[in-house]
Amino acid sequence: SVATGSVDSPGEQPKRFPRGVVLGKDGKPCRSCTSFAAWAAQTKQKAKQNGGVTSSSSSTNNTAAADATATGPPADCPPDVEVLGRSTWTLLHSIAATYPETPSRSQQSDLLSFVRLFSKLYPCWVCAEDFRTYLGREVPRVGSRDEFGKWLCGAHNDVNRKLGKPEFDCSKWEQRWRTGWED
Ligand code: FAD
Repeated sequence: SVATGSVDSPGEQPKRFPRGVVLGKDGKPCRSCTSFAAWAAQTKQKAKQNGGVTSSSSSTNNTAAADATATGPPADCPPDVEVLGRSTWTLLHSIAATYPETPSRSQQSDLLSFVRLFSKLYPCWVCAEDFRTYLGREVPRVGSRDEFGKWLCGAHNDVNRKLGKPEFDCSKWEQRWRTGWED
């Protein structure tokens, strides 16, 4: 399952939602699983279903949505799947960057627990589900900073592939996330 896929989650009639809107377990659109463009389309459709008469707040949302379709949600709005993802990768790679070169047993165990709990708590449930599948296939490697950094880079590349994004050269993960680029 990919968060960019069409609506096929349990709950309400999928036909009611535009393509790309991912439903949550409660059958309602899941904001952190959906791109802002799809979310904006949904807001528009909802307004249309209301006969074009919208409350002032949804009408404002509609305009904001149309404007921001190309750029993502305004900075002070809840994150869509992309803003959430970008911020999360920043956190995860930064954790790798500050992880010790030679971690103690307890540091290794903490990191392993963190990754496993993260995979259960990540707000985009379809993303989390796929990430848990990845964990089952590729056990997190927490024996050193470089080991974890490369493992995480592989996990990120797995999502990149799924979304049709270019793969990142994992030999450069530390330049990207710790030392800065070599001149
Ligand atoms: P991002 O992929 O967010 O990357 C941010 C930056 O990291 C890039 O600019 C680049 O400099 C660097 N980078 C890229 N690849 C690597 C790498 N392999 N190693 C190190 N650095 C790298 N979105 C969905 O639509 N569907 C999903 O199923 C989905 N699953 C996700 C699962 C997880 C665990 C996370 C954290 C995010 C997921 N996302 C998913 C969000 C998605 O991965 C992107 O974050 C989002 O699409 C925004 O992409 P972006 O192009 O801004 O760059």
